[in-house]
Amino acid sequence: TYDFEGQTAIVTGAASGIGRETAEQFAAGGANVVVTDVDAGGGAETVERIESADGTATFVETDVSDAGDVEAMVQEAVDAYGGVDVAVNNAGIEGETEPLADLSEDAWDRVLDVNLKGLWLCMKHELPELVAGEGGAIVNLSSIAGLVSAGGAPYVASKHGVIGLTRVAATQYAGDNVRVNAVCPGVIDTPMVDRAGEADPEAIDQFVGMQPLGRKGTPEEVASAIVWLCSGEASFVTGNAYPVDGGYLAQ
Ligand code: NAD
Repeated sequence: TYDFEGQTAIVTGAASGIGRETAEQFAAGGANVVVTDVDAGGGAETVERIESADGTATFVETDVSDAGDVEAMVQEAVDAYGGVDVAVNNAGIEGETEPLADLSEDAWDRVLDVNLKGLWLCMKHELPELVAGEGGAIVNLSSIAGLVSAGGAPYVASKHGVIGLTRVAATQYAGDNVRVNAVCPGVIDTPMVDRAGEADPEAIDQFVGMQPLGRKGTPEEVASAIVWLCSGEASFVTGNAYPVDGGYLAQ
């Protein structure tokens, strides 16, 4: 990992998958980590894993689609550790995959509220803290579905939106020494993909078959790109969307 000694990192959706692994890698680099999720049991387990490896973390229960929750979560981070230097906006859900003309308004709102509005709410409250601390870095979780049509309509639309929002944040806050990038994973071996695989095993096999490396990625392989982008090693990188996709987009 990289050096995050003395820094505070927020990771949303850190009770599982990519978020949990990212939280663990920040802690291994010396950061104080704010583990936040709707899943209190999974969040507590992430904190336990970090503490048993001699890291520092605290859990804050937050629904990222709830403005009051997000504001309180960022305030708790500031109260606990004195500020925020790094944020990874990772919480996300997959949603429905039926043809878009068959989607209900609820199915649309559910995904967009978490994946896009929730991510904007997080940045809305994180950015002033990064600016107050004279700089920092944000990574937002998009997907290959943020670059091509690889999933259901609300998911693909939300993940394309994440890249747009990332570019706007990067340009609006570059003068404040804040860098903002997106990461675009391919098919990664997480509980989200396990659930999708139970619902439609053929679709997952087909996606994996389109990754020339011929396998799912691991949460570690995505987290290592995320922590690099947040580290001082990536000091001239901002406003970009990085695929971590086993070659999916190369064909
Ligand atoms: P996951 O389901 O394992 O973890 C997602 C976490 O987000 C869960 O702990 C869940 O409780 C939390 N969450 C869901 N809704 C929330 C809300 N409203 N507020 C707070 N927390 C909430 O999924 P994952 O595979 O680790 O995915 C993490 C991110 O990476 C997501 O944004 C996902 O879209 C993206 N992504 C994943 C893959 C993949 O193949 N796994 C591919 C591309 C992008």
